[in-house]
Parts: sequence; structure tokens; C-alpha cells
Amino acid sequence: MIYLDNAATTKPNERAMARAQNFITERYFNPSAKYREGYALQSELKSARSSLLSAVADPTAFECVFTSCGTESNNQAIFSLARRGNAITTAGEHSAVSACFAELKQRGVECRVAPLQRDGRVDVEKLLSLVDEKTSFVSVMHVNNEMGAINDINGIAKRIKAKNPRVIFHSDGVQAYGKIPFKLAKEVDLYSVSAHKLGGLKGVGALIKRKSLVLPAYIYGGGQERGLRSGTENVFGIMSFAYAAEEKFATLKQDYERIKGYREAFWSALNPQHFDRISSQEGSPYILTLSAKGLRGEIVLHMAEDKGLLIGTGSACSSNAKTRYNKVVLAMGYSEQVADGAIRISFSTDTTAEEVEAAAAILSDVVNELRTRMNIKES
Ligand code: PLP
Repeated sequence: MIYLDNAATTKPNERAMARAQNFITERYFNPSAKYREGYALQSELKSARSSLLSAVADPTAFECVFTSCGTESNNQAIFSLARRGNAITTAGEHSAVSACFAELKQRGVECRVAPLQRDGRVDVEKLLSLVDEKTSFVSVMHVNNEMGAINDINGIAKRIKAKNPRVIFHSDGVQAYGKIPFKLAKEVDLYSVSAHKLGGLKGVGALIKRKSLVLPAYIYGGGQERGLRSGTENVFGIMSFAYAAEEKFATLKQDYERIKGYREAFWSALNPQHFDRISSQEGSPYILTLSAKGLRGEIVLHMAEDKGLLIGTGSACSSNAKTRYNKVVLAMGYSEQVADGAIRISFSTDTTAEEVEAAAAILSDVVNELRTRMNIKES
């Protein structure tokens, strides 16, 4: 089986899991316990926090709150601070942000949505035109989970703050963290990350925040995470997240170039008469979205699965959505037919050149077979 749906989740990093194993078998104590073993865990959590944070931010200016996932980080950021005036997001967001905005609207906050450009990035000028003196909150994702399009969040945050310095700027960094080289600018107030996209476990995340930003408590209880997010810490999950991230950041730049080569090799192996390329070359190399011309992406996905290749048709989290078409592809200005044929191939650092070659061959076979069956003529 070749797994190329790594934007949905990646295989847990076995070295990171083995390294963290002792936090289950021996050091299973409660980090809030008053005996030495408890204190010792606090210092382990502190070093995990500092390594996860310093990989993308200045630890003197930012801090991090551990959460149960990227979705929770987004919810905490949005519902804690987008409470008055108007709040702005983009048409490309993952449901972990867009559903929060739908709920904000129900709660009486005016919500504005900035459109996407043809390459999947937000239209920055249109986004800025939505910002006014009543804007309290703006959320712009860093890397789009469907397209891989990379928004220049530092530049966008700076321009928004120049227009209205009171705006709180949040970014969903779940598909960027550990994959894209960058450091957070001081204008970014909040940044959400998730462990399972880079070899950590599902159910572990963090919300990186500017230290001077006052955030209300989100989950009340024993006062963990400096009172912002109570609940006994998931020590194994957090430690294995930090170990997996450490490896990713150590080889991030080489991996970026290698995976970019795989993405281009994959695309070059396909017949361009049979596919439209939707992801741009400038996007994250980890994600390649294509449209199989005249076919339904979901059918291609199932046939590929039968032949040993696992791919996606877009966000796994929107598979419950009522709409048939990939909403991000539509928001980029493509037709319903192109959106219907969308398939997402997503790589990980574990992907090999041999897998890329074999996967492209399987996809080509599937599409050839379907086109013959449906009698689609070559254009
Ligand atoms: N944001 C983006 C961009 C994602 O791709 C995902 C996961 O698919 C999430 C948020 C949700 O993260 P989690 O699965 O950790 O809740």
C-alpha cells in the first residue's frame, strides 16, 4: 500500500514514540503532583514547550499553550478573542476555522470572508479592504490544506496592523509547521499547530501566542497551562510531538527540496491531457491537487485504493460536508466540473522516489481505465 494522503495525517514517527515511551511505562505521574517525579515532568514539559516554540518563534516574545488538537487551538483563538465588531477570514480555511466563523455569526458577530486568487492564496488587497476600525479579529491560514498555497502571513499581519493596530491576527499553521521555513513576525498574535501532521499523535496540538496578548481561560479546572487550558497534560503526546518536530525541523530545508522534486516528478509522469493541475508550483511541495478531467475525484480515489494507492479528494474533515464540490477549488474560480474531479496527493518526509513513481503509474492506469469505460475522447 502506498500512502499519499499525508495532509490528512502522517504515520507516527517510530523513533519519537520510542523515545517518549518511558512517559507511559515508567514516568506516568501527574505533572501537577507535589513529589519529585511530578516536578520532573514539569521540567520535561517545559523543554518540549521551548523546543516546539523556538522552532518558529522568538521564545522571549511568544509562548505556547498545549491543546488537544489543531481544531481546539483554532477554537480557543477565535472564540476567546473574536467577540465584538467584525471578524474576517478567508474562503480557503479548513472547517476548523470556517465552522467557528459560522458559529460566531450565529452569536451576532459580523463575519467577513476574503476571496481567494486563482492560485489558492487569499487576495490580500480585498482582505485589507474588509478591515476597518470595527475589526477585532482576522484569521488567515498559513498553508492551505487542500492546495498547499502559502499565504505570506507575516506580511499580511503587518499590513493589517498598519491599518488597524487593535486587530488580533490569528493563523492556522497546521499544514505549515515543520514543513515550511519561516519565523513568526511579532505582528502575528496567535498560531495553531497540530502534532499528527508531522509524525506526532492525533489528539495533540498547541496554540502559540504572543506573550503580551491577554487570553481568557478556555477550559476551566485545575489551572494547567497557566490557567488558560485546564486538564491533566497529555505527557506522552506532548513529548512525542516535541521529539517528532525536532527531527522535522532539523532536516526541513533538505526535505522541502526533495519533496518538491517528488511533486514535480509525480506531475511529469502524468498525461496532462487527462489532468488539470490546480496546486501552483509556488505552494507547499507536500500537497499536489489535480483534477481528473471529466471524472469524479471520489471514484478515482476508490479505484486507486483498490490498486494499492491511498490519496485524498480534499480535507478529510470536510467529508461530512453536504456539498459535493471541493469548496476551495470553487473559491479559486474553477468550474464545478474541475472541482468534481479534484484529487489531493500529499507527501511526507517518509515518501520515497520509488513510491512516487509507482503511485503516478497507478493513478495513470486508473484514469486511463475510467476514461475508456466512460468513452471520454482525447482532447
Ligand atoms: N487546520 C488545518 C489546515 C488542517 O489541515 C487540519 C487537519 O486536517 C486542522 C486544522 C485540524 O487539525 P486537527 O486534526 O489536529 O484537529
